[in-house]
Amino acid sequence: MRGLLVGRMQPVHQGHLQVIKRILNEVEEVIIGIGSAQLSHTIKDPFTAGERVMMLSKALAENGIPASRYYIIPVQDIECNSLWVAHMEMLTPPFNHVYSGNSLVQRLFTEKGYQVTQPPLFNREMYSGTEVRRRMLLGQNWEELLPESVVDVINEIDGISRINDLAIKEVSEI
Ligand code: NAD
Repeated sequence: MRGLLVGRMQPVHQGHLQVIKRILNEVEEVIIGIGSAQLSHTIKDPFTAGERVMMLSKALAENGIPASRYYIIPVQDIECNSLWVAHMEMLTPPFNHVYSGNSLVQRLFTEKGYQVTQPPLFNREMYSGTEVRRRMLLGQNWEELLPESVVDVINEIDGISRINDLAIKEVSEI
C-alpha cells in the first residue's frame, strides 16, 4: 500500500511530522506532495519548494524514517481543480489511499474514486503554518513548533529576515 499526503508545508512543522508517522503505521510508503510549489517569497508562502524539500527530508531523517519509505515531490498548482487529481497522478508514483485534512483536497480525490482519510489533527492551534508564520513575524517562540532540523534550515537560509522584509514590503504596498 502506498499513501499520499499533500501540503503547502509553509513551513514543515510538528503536525506534519506526526501525521506522516501515523500514515507510515498504515502504509509501506508515503508520497509527500509539496503543494503550491511555484509559490515563495510572500508572507503566506515564504519558502521555496526546494527549501521545503530540504526541511522535510532533514526532519524525516532526524526522526529516523528511512528514505526508502517516502517520496517527496513538489507539485505546482493548476487553474483547473477538476484536472488536479490527474495532474497529481502524472507527477507521483501510483497510490491507493489519500490522507488530507483539507476539504477541497478530500472532495477532489473522493470524486475520482480514491479512498480518503482525514487524519486526526495534533494540537492544531499551535501546529499550523499560520501560527508558525505569525510567531516568526512577531518575534515569538516559533522554534518550539518545528523539528530541530527545520529550525536549522530556516536559520541557514536566513528565513526570519526574509519574512520581516516581506512584511515591510507588503505593508508598504497597502
Ligand atoms: P497544509 O500544509 O496546511 O496541510 C497539509 C496536511 O497536513 C493537512 O491536510 C493535514 O492532514 C496535515 N496537517 C497539518 N497540520 C496538522 C496538525 N497540526 N496535525 C495533524 N496533521 C496536520 O497544506 P494544505 O493547505 O492542506 O495543502 C493543500 C495543497 O494542495 C495546497 O498547496 C493547494 O494549493 C493544493 N491544491 C491545489 C489544487 C489546484 O492546483 N487546483 C487543488 C487543490 C489543492
